[in-house]
Amino acid sequence: KKVKVALLFGGRSGEHEVSRNSAYSVAKALSDKYDVFAIGISKEGEWYGPVPLEDIKQFVPEHYADKKITILPHPASGGTIYQLPGLKPVHQAEVFFPVLHGTFGEDGTIQGLLDLAQVPYVGAGVLSSSVGMDKIFMKKIFAEAGLPQVPYLYFLRTLIDNHIDKIITEIEEKLGYPCFVKPANLGSSVGISKAVNRGQLEEALKKAARYDRKVIVEKGLSVRELEVSVLGNDQPRASLPGEIVPCNEFYDYRAKYIDDRSALYIPASVPEEAVKRLQELAVAAFKALDCAGLSRVDFFLTKDTNEILINEINTMPGFTTISMYPKLWEYSGLPITELVDELVRLAVERFADKK
Ligand code: ADP
Ligand code: MG
Ligand code: MG
Repeated sequence: KKVKVALLFGGRSGEHEVSRNSAYSVAKALSDKYDVFAIGISKEGEWYGPVPLEDIKQFVPEHYADKKITILPHPASGGTIYQLPGLKPVHQAEVFFPVLHGTFGEDGTIQGLLDLAQVPYVGAGVLSSSVGMDKIFMKKIFAEAGLPQVPYLYFLRTLIDNHIDKIITEIEEKLGYPCFVKPANLGSSVGISKAVNRGQLEEALKKAARYDRKVIVEKGLSVRELEVSVLGNDQPRASLPGEIVPCNEFYDYRAKYIDDRSALYIPASVPEEAVKRLQELAVAAFKALDCAGLSRVDFFLTKDTNEILINEINTMPGFTTISMYPKLWEYSGLPITELVDELVRLAVERFADKK
């Protein structure tokens, strides 16, 4: 009898569509060996399933009205928690694979729900997921671990609303132009802008503050972008690095998902010492956040000084057949079917370890 894997996709996130594409390739890769039960989460946060694998990419929640799954008490019930039906008895899934990116998926919230339901799941736990999602906390942990990064500042929305001139002056003094302005808790470049002057900086701060109550501003560098895939639990291993060459001025949402002229180079053409350093830093970042299962660690290689800086970690990286994470492992001799199989195994291993 095949092991039943519940795949969660979509979600209440700016990366809902990206998740559907990732989930489709994960579902296909799992389906030979596992009994895949796909659960679609609408942009409003409602759960539906099972969704036939063929429908994952084009998931239309309205078509599944009769397959709605209640996982949380309706607010009208007063939110009484004892009404929460256990996920395990509902779906009899043995392992959960939350192929969700961004808010309410990659940020520890779903992980908390799955912990409550006492089921094994693929990827990082609550704490690692939320720290990985919050670029400010992530940088603090990386700094504590001695990992090299870009200089940055951060601000609350209330300050941006009320004292924008003061903030801009501080950014100009400490970071200068160009700078990158980002909502603290997002991914896929949503809400991120590059500013080269005061006017653009003001716009960028206001824009980022629409997405999050915390905004981070970084010194903008001229860089090459390198990414390393990490796989494992307590003894994680790193793939060779890959390189992204964005077709736009920076790797924005358009360059990631709409315009197909961005290029992926596998492996990245960098000297042997750089490969070693990138792999060491990737594993160190994974360990610093106490991640589990998988992560893609993204780096900058500064063009003028040849410095390697860590940009970010993604605890549930893009997983389409052309995404960097599975591609790097494929290049290292681990095809996507074996990769997802290993991830399920690691989920079960970690679940046993936690007890
Ligand atoms: P996300 O989590 O949304 O992917 P990133 O922090 O990775 O956000 O930023 C998205 C892209 O913006 C990067 O891939 C890079 O192209 C560009 N970028 C971000 N920060 C900087 C920076 N400090 N200097 C130069 N480019 C940057
Ligand atoms: Mg990210
Ligand atoms: Mg990124």
